[in-house]
Amino acid sequence: MDLGIRNRVAIVAAASRGIGFACARELAREGVRVFLCSRDASHASEAAQKIHEETGGDVAGIACDVTNDADVQAFVNLALKRGGQIDICVTNAGGPPAKSFAETDLDMFRQAFEQNALSAIRLAKLALPGMLDRKWGRIINITSVSVKQPIDGLLLSNTVRAGLTGWAKTVSNEVAAQGVTVNNVAPGYTLTERQDELAEVRGKAAGKSKQEVIESWALQAPIHRMAQPEEIAAAVAFLASERASYITGVTLAVDGGWVKSLL
Ligand code: NAD
Repeated sequence: MDLGIRNRVAIVAAASRGIGFACARELAREGVRVFLCSRDASHASEAAQKIHEETGGDVAGIACDVTNDADVQAFVNLALKRGGQIDICVTNAGGPPAKSFAETDLDMFRQAFEQNALSAIRLAKLALPGMLDRKWGRIINITSVSVKQPIDGLLLSNTVRAGLTGWAKTVSNEVAAQGVTVNNVAPGYTLTERQDELAEVRGKAAGKSKQEVIESWALQAPIHRMAQPEEIAAAVAFLASERASYITGVTLAVDGGWVKSLL
């Protein structure tokens, strides 16, 4: 299928590695001009270089902390200056720490809201006006299956991502008639560097090998394996495409069947 987005311009947040990186690479493969960001300038430019070498695509890596207003403004300005416009906005950030309610204080909720809700809203606030002017745009938020089925122990993620999902659905209705779609991709257990590191830590704490921990996560999904970041990115690229023009306001779980609900 030709996704029909060659020469479109995308910003992809938090993309020096993991799911964000895979999204940036998938869009570059489709001929999209990509501006990716990460907090660290060298990590961002190394990621961009790697994608350029693999795909031949036009990719730039910029230092930007998505929780910082000035950084995000500068990131968007740079993409607009060099790319001319922003057609596709993929929001992403690292996840909040795993905590129970007893382990949290109010500042942790504020931080989680900043990192996993306001970061997306902040980017969309800046990217959306141009999309509305040109009557074409795609906003895709990387969230989590926890918005469909909360995960025990991930209280902060369960709480703030649900809020972002409510925001996305409401905004999708406000802008649909002007050619802009707003959707979420909700990954299930995905074997990124972060999950690999986490498996090592959890394994040590529980007297298990890293592989045993990964296996236990994999078996939670009917598909009996973890996702590869590319499999999440493929869904993002589709939702970013011309072909997905009638899909808006949805949360697409890419989870190997992990979510148990009908919808
Ligand atoms: P990761 O830790 O491997 O990658 C996160 C990326 O975000 C890195 O490039 C990091 O540098 C960047 N980053 C973090 N905070 C940032 C900030 N404030 N500003 C700019 N860049 C920042 O994570 P991942 O596994 O790829 O997950 C991506 C998102 O998807 C996270 O929010 C995670 O919670 C969520 N998620 C992941 C899984 C999974 O199994 N991997 C499942 C469900 C949801």
